[in-house]
Amino acid sequence: MSQPATVEALAERLEAAAQARLGRSLAIRHLGSGSCNACELEINALSGVVYDLERLGLRIVTSPRHADVLLVTGPACRNMTEAMQRAWFCTPDPKWVVAVGDCAMDGGVFRDSYAVEGGAERVLPVDLVIPGCPPPPALMLEGLLALLEAQGDPEERRAQRGRPRLEPDPDADG
Ligand code: SF4
Repeated sequence: MSQPATVEALAERLEAAAQARLGRSLAIRHLGSGSCNACELEINALSGVVYDLERLGLRIVTSPRHADVLLVTGPACRNMTEAMQRAWFCTPDPKWVVAVGDCAMDGGVFRDSYAVEGGAERVLPVDLVIPGCPPPPALMLEGLLALLEAQGDPEERRAQRGRPRLEPDPDADG
């Protein structure tokens, strides 16, 4: 199958899985926690002329309150910890956190920096890691599809693994 056909098939399966799991299209909020912006370029490509995923209903939203998935890029910078966790607490259940790229996986090339906690897992309950520097859009589609097709409630899995390290700020406002 050619790459465009593969992407088309993946996108259609993703839309069908979102409808089956959520009863509507999937909404994604990007959370940049200190990346070099190359991962963002690949995420932006999902909405560009090649992938054009909005035609299948997959939406990039601007508020975590409207999101199902938080796509985290970059290492978890210390100065971004509170903002990332506020965004997580503002996102309604069911929700998933996807670490996109090697930096979000374990800090990547920035892991030894004094300004970096490590990967996204250090501050958020990550459900899926998509490795790469940066990972291509088709791999992101495969990851999102795997999330939606996975059995079980993400909140139950999270309860078994423990909560994020910081407690929610009662004044948090997304
Ligand atoms: S994984 Fe690579 S492309 Fe993505 S933010 Fe890190 S250095 Fe940049």
